[in-house]
This record gives sequence, structure tokens and C-alpha cells, in this order.
Amino acid sequence: MNSLKTISKTSIDIEKIRADFPLLSRKVNGKQLIYFDNGATAQKPKLVINAITNYYENQNANIHRGVHTLSQELTVEYEKARTTIQKHLNAKHPHEIIFTKGTTDSINLVASSFCKKFISTGDEILISTMEHHSNILPWQQACEEKGAILKVIPINESGELIISEYKRLLNEKTKIVSIAHISNTLGTINPIEEIIALAHAKNIPVLVDGAQAVAHTAVDVQTLGCDFYCFSGHKLFGPTGVGILYGKEKWLNELPPYQVGGGTIKTVTFEKTEYEGIPLKFEAGTPHIEGGIGLSVAIDYVNTIGLNAIAAYEHELLVYATQELQKVEGIKIIGTAKNKASVISFVVEGIHPFDIGTILDQLGIAVRTGHHCTQPLMAQYCIQGTIRASFAFYNTKEEIDEFIKGVKTAIKMLK
Ligand code: PMP
Repeated sequence: MNSLKTISKTSIDIEKIRADFPLLSRKVNGKQLIYFDNGATAQKPKLVINAITNYYENQNANIHRGVHTLSQELTVEYEKARTTIQKHLNAKHPHEIIFTKGTTDSINLVASSFCKKFISTGDEILISTMEHHSNILPWQQACEEKGAILKVIPINESGELIISEYKRLLNEKTKIVSIAHISNTLGTINPIEEIIALAHAKNIPVLVDGAQAVAHTAVDVQTLGCDFYCFSGHKLFGPTGVGILYGKEKWLNELPPYQVGGGTIKTVTFEKTEYEGIPLKFEAGTPHIEGGIGLSVAIDYVNTIGLNAIAAYEHELLVYATQELQKVEGIKIIGTAKNKASVISFVVEGIHPFDIGTILDQLGIAVRTGHHCTQPLMAQYCIQGTIRASFAFYNTKEEIDEFIKGVKTAIKMLK
């Protein structure tokens, strides 16, 4: 592994980082695991695993409701986690950070609450062709309920949004724009600052689906100016079952609660309920306490490496893998945007992606195959699915070499 350090031009200490992730040393099908399915979920550093173990061994209680020491200590810890996330996103206030179950839950919350209050018959909601199903279905459902219309920003052959079409689609009927920061299938990094500015020029709010962005790039919600920003803990090296909705204070105050119940109220009678302010108004029931704490530990960990260093290193991986993959006969890369994150989707002429994925798995290489929860995008490219390799900062060029060898082996076996 010594050579790994010298290969990278960036300041990532790959050997040290890999040692932080216990699962990376696992063998799969008798081979050293090569984990290239980071777009689906990322592996967890020991610090996060330790924080969760410590929670159950030393901290477990319920929060926001007990007078006893455990409950009070844990409430402080959970709220500290909220502040860590607020600072990480550079949100103005901690109460602009809502703990959810994940990106899907965050988008459902906004779609449901926003549409209840602000959408009527004939209004339009704007998304794009490259959205994940989790950023399509909640809006589709809201449109069905309210008689509103779902409009879709088209993309070009490279997988980039056609901005002139976006400008054309923005009109006085548009009530909200909901758009991925980075496409999980294509890797396209969308120009969200421009997208937000264009929408705001017409007083239209913007939700950004940051599920694929937060592990690869620093996000400053105040600089972006977005109204809502959603992501999942598990793709940011944190636990599953926890996610974040950032919302501007003004919007969160205006939106009605999504789910209601314990934890969301000031007073209840059988006749009437007075709700808490934000963030508690949106956090019904006992939350995923260890998830929130684990996520804050993951964020602290990522920040010790630095998202700029991570982005630079992953870009090296992307360039290298793209260059090597393009040399393999019969391969077509799906998604060739100028501005791309470390995600490569590809198809092989005459071979089903699932078959390639299965052979790679036999070689210990984990990739994702299929439609990646983006069926409308697959329809646009007239394909059933792709093979997707998505890299994290703990991946290496040596692993990419093994992967390329594996793809060649698979093609030889299947042709
Ligand atoms: N949006 C995008 C762009 C995603 O990649 C994903 C996860 N693949 C989601 C939303 C949904 O995330 P989760 O399943 O964690 O809610």
C-alpha cells in the first residue's frame, strides 16, 4: 500500500484513512473487497461505530423530556449534534436544521407541507429529467392531490441541464423548483447557484436534493441561497435512518407540521393543539438519537480530512477511471458532463448490466447495477440500466486497475 501515497497528487493520506474504515479490510467471495458503491451508501469510520456503541453502553435515554441526568446529558449532546450540522452547512440558525429519516423523508416533508399551504390547481412544480425517484414521487403525489402540474427541465446528451429550457419553464405558475445538486446516476454537478438565482429572480423557492453532494463537496447554504437542502447521513459516512432537512427560518415557520405527535407540541386539549416552534414542530416522536450523534461525528471526521482535499482526490480518481474505462472496447459512458463528481455509469454493448455486476461481485468488486431509482432518466437514454462505479476518498487507483481488469474479464466471459 505504500505506493498509494505517492500516486495521489493531493494531500490525502490514503493508508491512514483506509485504516479508519474496518469494513474495507473485509474479503468478499475470497477476494479483497473493492467497494465502489458509495453512491448507494458509504462505509463508516471507526469513530462513528464507536460513537454508536458508546451511546448504547453509556448514554441511552430519551431526550427533550426527562429531568434525570441521562436524559439531560443526552439532550445536550443531541442539540450539540444539531449545531455541528448547522455549522457544517453554514446555516444561520440551529433551528433551521431538522432531523429526518433521510433525503427521501426530507423531500416528502417539504412536498407535503409546502403543497398543503402553497399549491393550488393549475400551479406548476419544476424538477429535472435526472432526478432520483425520491425527488419525483413526492411532487407527483402532491400534484395529483392539488391538481397541479409537474414540469421537467430537459437535459442534453452529456447529461447537463439545458439552462435555456429551464429559463423558459420558470413562470408565474411555478411555485417551487426541486433539483439534485449532483446526479446519482450521471455524476453531473448541476449549476445550482445559477438555478437558485434564476428562480429567486421570480420569487420562486428552491429545494436542493444534496444526497449525492454532501460527501464530495463543501455546502454553504447561505452562499447558495437555497430555501431547502436535503441529505442522508448514511451517504456521508454516518448511520442509516437519519437525515437532514435544512430550511430557511422564514419557510419553516410558515410551513404546517408534516407528521404530528409527541415532541411537536406546546399544549394539547381534545379541542385544540398548540405546536412547538421550529425545529421541534417537524420532529414528531422519539428521534434517531444515536443517528444524529453519529452523523455529527461523521461530519467532524470528514472535516479533519477536508472536503476540498476530498474533492480534489476524488477528481483524480474520476479522471483516471474514465480514461481507463474508455480504452475498453464496447463500453459507453452514460453521463459525460463537463462538471462531474466521482460517479461513472456505463453500459456494455450487448451485455446486461446485471451480468457484469454479478461477475464483478465474484471478484470482490461491489458496484451498483440497474436504473438507480432514475427510470425516467433511463428512458431518456433508451436503456434499461447501467453499471455504476461511485468512488469515495478511501478508494484508490490500484482498486480502479482491478476494476478495469474485472470489467474486461466479465466482457470476455459474456461475449
Ligand atoms: N436523491 C438522490 C440524488 C439519491 O442519490 C438518493 C439515494 N440514492 C436519494 C435521493 C434518496 O436517499 P435516501 O434513500 O437516503 O432517502
